Amino acid sequence: MKLAMIGFGQAGGKIVDKFVGYDAEQGSNIVRAAVAVNTAKADLMGLDNIPESQRVLIGQSRVKGHGVGADNELGAEIAEEDMDEVQGAIDSIPVHEVDAFLVIAGLGGGTGSGGAPVIAKHLKRIYTEPVYGLGILPGSDEGGIYTLNAARSFQTFVREVDNLMVFDNDAWRKTGESVQGGYDQINDEIVKRFGILFGAGEVEQGGEVAESVVDSSEIINTLAGGGVSTVGYAREEVENTGGGGGGGLLSRLTGGDEEEELDTAHTTNRITSLVRKAALGRLTLPCEIEGTERALLVMAGPPKYLNRKGIERGRKWLEEQTGSMEVRGGDYPVRGANFVASVILLSGVNNVPRIKELQQVAIEAQENIEDIQQESEDNLEELVNDDDDELESLF
Ligand code: GDP
Repeated sequence: MKLAMIGFGQAGGKIVDKFVGYDAEQGSNIVRAAVAVNTAKADLMGLDNIPESQRVLIGQSRVKGHGVGADNELGAEIAEEDMDEVQGAIDSIPVHEVDAFLVIAGLGGGTGSGGAPVIAKHLKRIYTEPVYGLGILPGSDEGGIYTLNAARSFQTFVREVDNLMVFDNDAWRKTGESVQGGYDQINDEIVKRFGILFGAGEVEQGGEVAESVVDSSEIINTLAGGGVSTVGYAREEVENTGGGGGGGLLSRLTGGDEEEELDTAHTTNRITSLVRKAALGRLTLPCEIEGTERALLVMAGPPKYLNRKGIERGRKWLEEQTGSMEVRGGDYPVRGANFVASVILLSGVNNVPRIKELQQVAIEAQENIEDIQQESEDNLEELVNDDDDELESLF
């Protein structure tokens, strides 16, 4: 699936930058265009792979390239005011060649949190291609303002995109390690999952597995209908002697047939267990999978390790677990890979305790902020004015 990626703010820009690197390394052909937008000049300068012409600094007259801090209302205002500059970069994208837009941002900060929903709304108004979001939730140790920003941005972003895929930093924090320290690793995890998912729709059709290869229309149909999505992932190392269709050394020595037979049962079992691990393991946004509206199962790996029976079984199992009637599944043959991986896109999830908790903490933070503001206004008043109001100010 060919995407035009727009990274808003620091996290968004870094993740898109990593996607571009992944795409070049893997030859997965998913990033048709990449744009980074920020109010902070230094963040744009820190990127490696996005061409400089596709890095857009907005809000220069307001914040002079220094960013908006964690003020997402200002982030949204600036994005609105400077949309022409963002559009200028998007104008250089051959939009007729992309299947969809993907807007990526951390929702806890200022620029991405405020700007991502604004750009999504703008893109939807102008283009017919679907506009998806990838929103990063802050870690719970980042504090009340970040949580409040994220809760407000989440609500707005879901409304403005065709589907919001979510990654929760909090669920990915290693014990004893701050989220900050682990961002690079976390970003690798993000790019791996979404890289396989979107890469699946980009495989040239043809060869023996043609009709079971995932097509980009299946990704689009799974995301259609909107709402919030999460992604599961599991992988197992396998020995890959290359060559695609044939067996390993042993099967070549023994003539192959018997070995292939044995392999089929083993291959099927491996696939079904990887499907279970992906769905029941750590999701990008932890949630109850029962009640999911639609799902897509992608099995990636060397073709000889993929089989239709395994995928069909995995798909059926997912239908039972989610209660959904709309579970799609297919292959993503990666000839040189030394692993078999399952990626599961759960689209339209409804039972997400983490979001409810985020909203609760956000409401408390909002009330606290109002109290503190009121208190500090009262304190200042008391300090500046004399007790009996005997002094008069000059003007
Ligand atoms: P902005 O530049 O004002 O949009 O704010 P940032 O993108 O710097 O930060 C917003 C939020 O994104 C933070 O609260 C973090 O939760 C998260 N974040 C920042 N950098 C990264 C990153 O590199 N990876 C991930 N996964 N999250 C990040």
